[in-house]
Amino acid sequence: MTETRAGPASRFAPSPTGRLHRGHAFSALTAVATTREIGGRFVLRIEDIDTERCRPAFEAAILEDLAWLGLEWETPVRRQSEHLDDYAAALERLRARGLVYRCFKTRREVLDDIARAPHGRVAAYVGAPLPADEEARRLAAGGPFAWRLSLAAARAALGAAFDALHFTEIGRGPEGQTGPQRARPELAGDVILARKDLGVAYHLAVVVDDALQGISHVVRGEDLFEAVHVQRLLQALLGLPTPIYRHHRLLLGPDGKRFAKRDKAQTLADIRASGVSAEALRAELGFS
Ligand code: GLU
Repeated sequence: MTETRAGPASRFAPSPTGRLHRGHAFSALTAVATTREIGGRFVLRIEDIDTERCRPAFEAAILEDLAWLGLEWETPVRRQSEHLDDYAAALERLRARGLVYRCFKTRREVLDDIARAPHGRVAAYVGAPLPADEEARRLAAGGPFAWRLSLAAARAALGAAFDALHFTEIGRGPEGQTGPQRARPELAGDVILARKDLGVAYHLAVVVDDALQGISHVVRGEDLFEAVHVQRLLQALLGLPTPIYRHHRLLLGPDGKRFAKRDKAQTLADIRASGVSAEALRAELGFS
């Protein structure tokens, strides 16, 4: 566990699944600009829980690219794969209160359930714990399972507070959302908090880390705006502070599509190799 440090802080939290591209530079620079505005700390976090997709070589490249870009961050850098016990402890707190349940379903079964269920705007999975004897049988047979957050149990635990969950957006969501926002965790359904293979999943790790690292301002792309709905609920259930959120627009390539790690020509390594200076790139992205 890391001690929570006082004072404002923002963060850049890349996953080492490929080389950083122009869009990552924009995101990291937006976080640094936010750090300056709030007079806070800048935290870099390596989100490497997905051991299948993450590579140490990409992590080394991230540090190199960000240093080239002129960023300075606090050390030691938190690497999620080294803190699985923190996430397990948070999961256990939820489990002890009956807020999560084991889900033995395959991906196919979950998709079939979603397709069958009458749903609203977003197709989300909502399940239920198995009866105790059935669960015991599956466990004895060694059936792999994921832990899912039970929206029904969360609603019962929080009562009226469930519908009053709010957060503040100082950037913009994909539909222009800005200012005070109501969190709507029901849009996401019963999300997975611990994957079958990893024992943790994105939302739980991020919420635990943002609290442990004292992140007051979460800065990231608007593609993650919807994640706040679940993350705000988890903060309430775990008694963690809620940061301010700043989602930013996504940079688009000449084809009008967002950059992806596969677009080689847009990687910072490639931009650097082509002779562009970090200063020129920063200026091009709107940062002096
Ligand atoms: N690790 C995530 C990504 O690279 C970002 C998570 C977050 O900012 O909450 O997309």
